[in-house]
Amino acid sequence: MKAKASEKKPEDVEAKKEIAEEDVSNVKIEAEKEVVSAVPIEVEELIKAMPVKREVEGWVPKTETGKKVKNGEIKDIEEILDMGITIMEPEIIDMLMPELSSELLLVGQSKGKFGGGQRRVFKQTQKKTKEGNKPKFSTIAVIGNKNGIVGMGFGKAKETVPAREKAFRNSKLNVIKIRRGCGSWQCGCKNPHSIPFEVEGKEGSVIMILKPAPKGKGLCIQSECKKILEMAGIKDVWSKTRGNTASRSNLLMACFNALKKLMEVKTGPDHKESLGIAEGMIKNEQ
Ligand SMILES: [Zn+2]
Repeated sequence: MKAKASEKKPEDVEAKKEIAEEDVSNVKIEAEKEVVSAVPIEVEELIKAMPVKREVEGWVPKTETGKKVKNGEIKDIEEILDMGITIMEPEIIDMLMPELSSELLLVGQSKGKFGGGQRRVFKQTQKKTKEGNKPKFSTIAVIGNKNGIVGMGFGKAKETVPAREKAFRNSKLNVIKIRRGCGSWQCGCKNPHSIPFEVEGKEGSVIMILKPAPKGKGLCIQSECKKILEMAGIKDVWSKTRGNTASRSNLLMACFNALKKLMEVKTGPDHKESLGIAEGMIKNEQ
């Protein structure tokens, strides 16, 4: 008798669970399930291929710097960056940097079995509420001229397209100038193909160390960080990471923070020659 009772009990519990689940799953949640499912690859490709918004003609500047850019008083982006002014309007970048490349980085992961989800542009998160699951999409955009100037931005919204727009807008407001050079003891060619010295960037638990590499070595780094360095115009680098590098956004931010450090280190005129340091854009490069 006892054995029979114990057999029955789990069934009862399961039955109860089913009932409970049925109670929760009302019409609203079923309707939202479609939104929750991952963005189809075709849609993602379309969103990726959309041109980055540039509103130069109808722009009415609101900040002092913006007015100067519109008047033509400031013609070089490096002037703004050297003065340490925060860029408040993305149109400044649109106007001063017409030849800008941009890309969305793969920060998300589609749902897949055995932990092998494909890396995707949009990272999806959900908030559980009484009304059901509220999904949000976030992404990271990188822009640059492949010649010493690079920007990175994070965007998050309820839909994919606004998230992308926000990311590009933020990347334009977050533009930095970098230093290039040849700090590799194996090379010593004095050309700005790599970085002049070792730098370290941190975000969360992730630490990214970038080291100068000899000419022709290429970018020995994780594939998404590679895109940032390509945008910045660095051709050869060695890297090392520590911490939870699986959290993509932290890894990318750590990489960007390392690039920021390139301008923070003080260098003398002797270093400039021996390491072949070039700051920002190289104008004579052809
Ligand atoms: Zn070299």
